[in-house]
Amino acid sequence: MKRKEMTNLELTAHQGLTGQAAKDRLAQYGSNQLVAAKKASIWRQIGRHLADVSSLVLLFAVLLASYMAIFQGGGWTKSIVIGSILVINVIIGMYQEASAEKALAALQSMSLPTTTVRRDDVAQTIEAKNVVPGDLVLLKAGDQVPADGVVLSSTNLAIDEAVLTGESVPVEKAALPALTDLKDEQLIYSGTAVTAGTAVAQVVTTGMATELGQIAGLLNKTKKRATPLQGRLNRLSGWLTAFAVLGGLAIFALSIWMQNQGLADSLMIGISLAVAAVPETLPIIVTISLAHGVKRMAKRNAIMRRVNAVETIGGVDVIASDKTGTLTQNKMTITRYWAPQNSTALPAEELNHAGRELLRYLGLATNAEIQTVAGEEQTTGDPTELAIIRWLTSNGASRQTFEATAPRLAEDPFDSTKKTMTTLHQLKDGRRLVIVKGAFDRLPVDWQPGELARAKRVHDDFGRDALRVLAVGYKVVPAGQRVDWAELTQKLTFAGLVGIIDPPRPEVIPAIREAKAAGIKPVMITGDHMVTAEAIAKEIGLLEPGQLVMSGDELRTLTDEELAARIEQTAVYARVSPTDKIRIVQAWQQTGATVAMTGDGVNDAPALKAADVGIAMGITGTEVSKSAADMVLTDDNFATIISAVREGRTVYQNILKAVEFLVGVNFAQIFLMVGAVLMGWGAPLLAEQLLLINVLADGIPGFYLSREPGEKAAMQQAPVANDESLFARGLGGRLVTRAVTFTLLTLGAYGLGRFVFSADQPAVGMTVTFLILAIGSMIDIYAIKDRQPLTWRSLKRNPRLNRALLGTIGLLIVIAMVPGLQGLFGLVTLPVSAWMLVVIGVFIPTGVLELKKRLALRNGRQLSQLLED
Ligand code: ATP
Repeated sequence: MKRKEMTNLELTAHQGLTGQAAKDRLAQYGSNQLVAAKKASIWRQIGRHLADVSSLVLLFAVLLASYMAIFQGGGWTKSIVIGSILVINVIIGMYQEASAEKALAALQSMSLPTTTVRRDDVAQTIEAKNVVPGDLVLLKAGDQVPADGVVLSSTNLAIDEAVLTGESVPVEKAALPALTDLKDEQLIYSGTAVTAGTAVAQVVTTGMATELGQIAGLLNKTKKRATPLQGRLNRLSGWLTAFAVLGGLAIFALSIWMQNQGLADSLMIGISLAVAAVPETLPIIVTISLAHGVKRMAKRNAIMRRVNAVETIGGVDVIASDKTGTLTQNKMTITRYWAPQNSTALPAEELNHAGRELLRYLGLATNAEIQTVAGEEQTTGDPTELAIIRWLTSNGASRQTFEATAPRLAEDPFDSTKKTMTTLHQLKDGRRLVIVKGAFDRLPVDWQPGELARAKRVHDDFGRDALRVLAVGYKVVPAGQRVDWAELTQKLTFAGLVGIIDPPRPEVIPAIREAKAAGIKPVMITGDHMVTAEAIAKEIGLLEPGQLVMSGDELRTLTDEELAARIEQTAVYARVSPTDKIRIVQAWQQTGATVAMTGDGVNDAPALKAADVGIAMGITGTEVSKSAADMVLTDDNFATIISAVREGRTVYQNILKAVEFLVGVNFAQIFLMVGAVLMGWGAPLLAEQLLLINVLADGIPGFYLSREPGEKAAMQQAPVANDESLFARGLGGRLVTRAVTFTLLTLGAYGLGRFVFSADQPAVGMTVTFLILAIGSMIDIYAIKDRQPLTWRSLKRNPRLNRALLGTIGLLIVIAMVPGLQGLFGLVTLPVSAWMLVVIGVFIPTGVLELKKRLALRNGRQLSQLLED
C-alpha cells in the first residue's frame, strides 16, 4: 500500500462513518470489488466465432459457391444459403456462450463475503463490496480483511498474508501510538486472513486500489483453465475434427475419381461434410451444462465457488464431514449432569446442591447470550455454551447475577485444539476463582481416590447415549498470591459433568444411505469423545459393523504409511484437531480417492484447500474457511452435499449424452457419403442439406440436453474415476450402434427413394435421406437422454427440449414441403409412398436403441438371477 496515502489519513470518529457518508463514498470510490476483465465487444465476439474452424470452412464454401456462380453460371442461391447458414451458426454460438456466461456471473454474485463495520455508532454486518475508505471495520479471528487499512486498536492480532506474500506463518499486527510513522505491522491488506485476536481498523483503499487489486489486475490477463472433462472433450473434438477433415478429403477424392461430379462440386461436398461432421457445439455444451449445474446446486443450498467443482463433486469417493451442525442439528440441550457428591447422574431438571454449584461454574465460564428481540430469540455464541445459558434460564439463574459476586478478570478462550476454556474471577473476599470447562480427558484435575474411575464411568454412559460431555474443574487462589496462568490451571478440583444432547438432522439418515448406494464413503470427523462419536455415527447409519473409530491421539502416533493402511476401514475420527484433518485428506488421496472435506474454522482452511472439494459452512463458517472452499453450504447440512453430488453427476451424464447425440450421427454422415459414392450413386446429400442438418438438427436439441433433469440411476453407480474413459459404461457401444443404424438406414432410404419410389430421381432420394437423417436424429434424443427404457413420463420431463424439437421438426417439414423453400435446399415434393418411408424411417434408430436397452435389462436380470441361484 502506498505509504503516502496512509500518512495523509484523516481519522474517522469512533462512531464510524454516517450511513449517508458511506453512501456518498461508495458513489465516489466505487464498489469494493476486484473488477473482472473487460467484456469483449460484440465485434470481437463475432470475429472470434468467425475464426472457428467450421466458420472458416463455411466462409471458404461461400467463396467457392460464388466462384461457381460467376464462372459456371450456377446462380447465387447456393452462396446465399451457405452464407445464411454461416450467419445462423455464429448467432447460435454467441447466444449459447452468452447464456453460459450469464449463469456463471450469477454464480459470482452468490458467494459474496460479508464483513462487520461500525457506522452511525452501530456495529453492522454488510457485504464486503460495500466497504468504503474511512469505514471502521471490526475484525476477529476467522475474518477476511475486506480492504487495505490501518489498525487503530487491537488485541493479540495475527494475520496470515500468504495470498500476498506466499508466507503462511501469520504475522503479528498491532496499533501504534501515533499514525505519523507508519510501520508495516500497522497495515492490513485486503484478502488476508485474521488467524487470531481482534482489531478495529480504518479502511484506506478499496477495490482495485488495494494491493490485492493490483495483483488481480495481472490475473485478469491470464487465461481461464479448462476443467478436466473439458480437457478430455477438447481432445476428443480434436480427433473428431481430424476424422471429419479426412472424411471430407476422402469424399472429394472419390467424387473426382469416380467422375460423378465436377471439381468445384466435389470440393463443395467435401467441405460441407467436414463442416457437418465437426462437433463444434460440444465445448459450448460442456460450459452450459456446468453453468446449469451451478444454478441448480444453488437452488439446493450449495453455492459453488469454482466451476470445476461441479464436475469434481459428482465424482467424489469420500465425504469427510464434521459432526456438529452438519450431521447434527447444532441445537444443544443439557439433559443430564453428575457431580462427585451424587451417587448417580441426575436429569438436568433435578438440581440439588452440587448441581447448583456446577450450574454456577458453568454460568460464570460462558460467553454466549440469548436475547429476545421483538418476540424473537436471538442467540450469539457457541451452541455448546447456548445449552448452558438455557440451563441457567430454566433454573431462574443468569450469568449476570453470578458475575455480580464474582466478576471476570480474564479469559483464555476455547479452541478446538486444546478443547478447554478457562476464566479467572475476583471473589468478594479478595480470593480469586479459576474455572476450567472442556473435554473430560483434557481437564487438569487433581483426582480424589476413586473419583476418576467413577467420573469415567458416568462420562462413558453419557457418551454411549450420544451425549456431548462437558467437564468442569475449579480452584480458589488465596488473596495476594501471585501465580502465572499455567500454574493456575493445574490440580483443579472436579466439579462435575454435564451431558448435552445434539440430535442428528433427520434428513441425514436417508442422505447417508443414498451416499453409500452411490458408492461414496461417508466419514465423520469430530472434536467429541470416541464414545459419543461412535454412538451418533451408529444412530445415523454411518458406522457399520467392522468399521473402525480412531481417536486423534492414536492418529498422531501413526506414520503416514500406517494411516494409509487403515484409512479405508476407519469411518469415524474422534477428538481430532483441525491439523489432523489434512492428514486424513492426504491419506485418502494416496489411495487414489477423490475427497470432499467440510470445515468451518480458521484452522480448517488448509484441509479445505488440500481436499479435492473443500466445503465450508455458510451459517457457522468463518469468512476464511469460505474463501478457502470450493463450495459453501448455505444451510450447513450434510444432506445438501449429497444433493450437490447428485447434481454433479447429472451434469456429467448430460455432457456424455450430448457426446452420444452429436458424435454418433456425425460418423454416420461420413459413412453415408462415402458409402453412396462408392456405390456409384454420387453424393446422397447436397452441401446445403448437410449444413442445414448441422445447424438445426445438431445444434439446437444438443443445447437443451444440458437442462435434462437427473436420472435415478445416477446415484446407484460407483463414482466416475478421474481417469475413466469417456467411452466407459457402454457409451462406446451405443455410439457404434447409432452410427451403424443411421448409416444403413440412410443408405437404404436413399436407394429406395431414388430407385423404388421414383424413376431414378436423385432429388427424391436426397429428400428422403435428408428428412430421415435430420428428423430421425432429433427423435433419437429421447432414447439417448434416458438410460432406462422410455416411458410417457420421461418423454414429458424436459418441456423446453420438447418445444425446441417440435419447432425444429416443424421447420424442417415446412422447408421440405413449401415449393419456394424446397428449391433453396435442393429438395423436391415427395410422393405419398416416400413420405410413408420417411414416417417409418425416422423412428427406426430410436426403436433400435430402445430394443438394445430392453435386451440389456433382460440379460442383466438373468445374470443377477444366475448369480443369486
Ligand atoms: P465437530 O468436530 O463434531 O464438528 P466441534 O468442532 O464442536 O465438533 P470441538 O469444538 O473440538 O468439536 O469440541 C470438542 C470438545 O470440546 C467437546 O466435546 C466439549 O467437551 C468441548 N467444548 C466444546 N465447546 C466448548 C466450549 N465452548 N467451552 C469449553 N469446552 C468446549
